[in-house]
Amino acid sequence: MRPVVIAHRGASGYLPEHTLPAKALAYAMGADYLEQDVVAARDDALVVLHDIHLDRVTDVACRYPGRQRQDGRYYVRDFDLGELKSLEVHERSNADGSPVYPDRFNSTDEIFRIQTFAEELDFVQTLQAADGRPVGIYPEIKRPEWHRHEGVDITPQFLGILADFGYEEHSDPVYVQCFDAKELRRIRRELGCRLKLIQLIGEDSWGESSTRYAPLRAQQGLERLARTVDGIGPWIRRAYRVARGNGEIRSTGLVQRAHTAGLAVHPYTFRADELPEGFASFDALLTFFIDELSIDGLFTDFPDQVVQFVRRNSV
Ligand code: CA
Repeated sequence: MRPVVIAHRGASGYLPEHTLPAKALAYAMGADYLEQDVVAARDDALVVLHDIHLDRVTDVACRYPGRQRQDGRYYVRDFDLGELKSLEVHERSNADGSPVYPDRFNSTDEIFRIQTFAEELDFVQTLQAADGRPVGIYPEIKRPEWHRHEGVDITPQFLGILADFGYEEHSDPVYVQCFDAKELRRIRRELGCRLKLIQLIGEDSWGESSTRYAPLRAQQGLERLARTVDGIGPWIRRAYRVARGNGEIRSTGLVQRAHTAGLAVHPYTFRADELPEGFASFDALLTFFIDELSIDGLFTDFPDQVVQFVRRNSV
């Protein structure tokens, strides 16, 4: 079956991540789902940003000098929505200010802003009404445990906003994703959420949650996950290995194990300008994952290229 194309932070290969123009572009490129990452502001407003920090994608350090924490970072949680909306969003940069992806959008003439989760959902519905093509959403609850330590339980509010926009049933075009396995169980069991759920699987060293990921990749862990979630979003590097010597690409069996457990598999992140180890081209990468591993969907910064690949290869 044709894999679903998830626009990772929008068409982030072309325009600054998580801005509405990046979402509109992804929609126009034919993406099946638009991703939102959701973080809480000081006044508990939920905004669409990838990090709990602001400094790598906005001009916060110039606008609000002295508002950083001990670690030197500026936190979304320390700013009210009005302040966040005054910031300008730019292409992602490293700690030293250099661009993470030097070939991406680099103009400073255009002004991009932060929007709330509700504003983005409204924007997505307006786009669909104008064009007629349906598109799904793929929101992530960021760091629920960390947010609770900061005094805010973001999940009920997050689910409430989805319900306000009519996303309540399992058949609705939405996947809710989270790295935190405990939070996903809570969402399904305690909060009674019927939406499709995706367990993101990262590396313990990333510190995204207190979930330990290695057991989740084993058959038993996947079978257990299938009682709660509809699919997994594994890091791309855990789905294959590169043979030493001849460089041959082989499956680790993760995708097959997940399929055996009845789970959909949506790996991340497919970037044409940052190919993972072992692949010489974006086409080779897509061919392996789509044709060999039969993934069910994928997160990409370049939705146009994946949509074109899928169309070419599904004739
Ligand atoms: Ca995400």
